[in-house]
Amino acid sequence: MAKRDPILIVGGGLGGLTTALALARHGWPTRVLEGAPQFGAIGYGIQFGPNVFHEFDRLGLSEQVLAIADFPVALSMMDALSGKELVHIPTGSSFRARFKYPYIVVHRIDLHNILLDACRRHDAVELVPDAMVMNFADRGDAVAVETKDGRAFSGAALVAADGLSSWFRARLIGDGDPRPSGYVAFRTIVPMAQVKADLARDNSALWAGPGLHVVHYPLRQGTEFNIVAVFRTATHAERGDPAAYRAELEYTYRNVHPAARALIGMLDMRWRRAVSDRDPIRHWHQGRVVLLGDAAHAPLQSLAQGAGMAIEDGACLGELIAATDGDFTSAFRRFEAARLLRTARVQLESRAIWDFYHLDEGVARDVRNATVAEWDEAHLFKCLAWLYDGAVVPDAKGP
Ligand SMILES: Cc1cc2nc3c(=O)[nH]c(=O)nc-3n(C[C@H](O)[C@H](O)[C@H](O)COP(=O)(O)OP(=O)(O)OC[C@H]3O[C@@H](n4cnc5c(N)ncnc54)[C@H](O)[C@@H]3O)c2cc1C
Repeated sequence: MAKRDPILIVGGGLGGLTTALALARHGWPTRVLEGAPQFGAIGYGIQFGPNVFHEFDRLGLSEQVLAIADFPVALSMMDALSGKELVHIPTGSSFRARFKYPYIVVHRIDLHNILLDACRRHDAVELVPDAMVMNFADRGDAVAVETKDGRAFSGAALVAADGLSSWFRARLIGDGDPRPSGYVAFRTIVPMAQVKADLARDNSALWAGPGLHVVHYPLRQGTEFNIVAVFRTATHAERGDPAAYRAELEYTYRNVHPAARALIGMLDMRWRRAVSDRDPIRHWHQGRVVLLGDAAHAPLQSLAQGAGMAIEDGACLGELIAATDGDFTSAFRRFEAARLLRTARVQLESRAIWDFYHLDEGVARDVRNATVAEWDEAHLFKCLAWLYDGAVVPDAKGP
């Protein structure tokens, strides 16, 4: 095979690293430029549906991922005010029989390390930390970039996997900053031994309340416990002090069930982020540059599928660049066509579910609770099939 110029990948998150591995499988060299001083991830939990295992299988990583995963026994939605379980999706044998793979939760650092180690084992992948890209030029037959500290890199094409606030999206699409949802999120991991609240520790639970929710699940073979609390607030853009954050949390969650309230008391005040959203867009590429993952289609986290979609994207794009033998126009067009409706559906359903979780007390909430009470396992599995059955990865022939 003739020596090829590397493809530049901007962003070493889950989307960027998956793309590098998918291309390396086909012998395509990549150079991954990561803006942070080191490749790594913020240390919180992350959930994955069975759909991602189609891609982990393709990359030969499923066994390693399963070894670091926890397997919740169910996905449950609780009414945060009454404490009543509203929805129960069993994720045991019937789920695996239907979807072929399990539902998992992992520590993001553990998954990141698996992908990084796999990249390091491939000669075709070059990892460049501390490389914040601040400039680029598409020269028609190559793409050149410059980093904040003045280094220059070039490649045959460029994959912008630079996340929710993508610098490349601003240049290619120019549709502004992500839209603040008016909600903020707190995330915390505590040792399981410290969790005294009277609640199930072996499932992935979501407590849904008026303008708020709390998510929790076990990590690292049940030794740790991941908690995420999300709520609507007028102070979403403010940088407050921990005492003000604590007072705001106590007030916001004052009426929730005691078990959920106990979790709020365990939150670390240092990690508070405004939650933002993006509209679906139809085009993700221009010339030799293409957007991928959150840069192209960031959803709210209510379906827990943003990273799953970034991983599916990476696998799909890698296959298409190989299948078209580096005809980037054709590969990027087919990538967009293959991924657009699925990722847009994740964005739109995430929004709909977001509102469904956060209904105020009143008739709408009563209707929600009465409706979901009728949902049995067969119905729930059918509703999730479009997502959990995984994505079609196009091959050399088409579509
Ligand atoms: C509270 C919360 C909970 C979530 N839970 C889940 C979940 O359970 N399941 C799930 O699937 N998803 C979840 N998500 C969504 C998930 O985190 C994202 O969808 C996913 O991280 C997107 O991956 P990415 O690779 O596209 O972007 P990112 O992970 O954001 O990676 C982008 C990378 O690009 C780098 N970068 C940015 N700009 C530049 C530049 N100019 N030059 C060089 N490098 C640059 C960044 O440093 C970063 O490393 C959650 C999100 C939040 C906020």
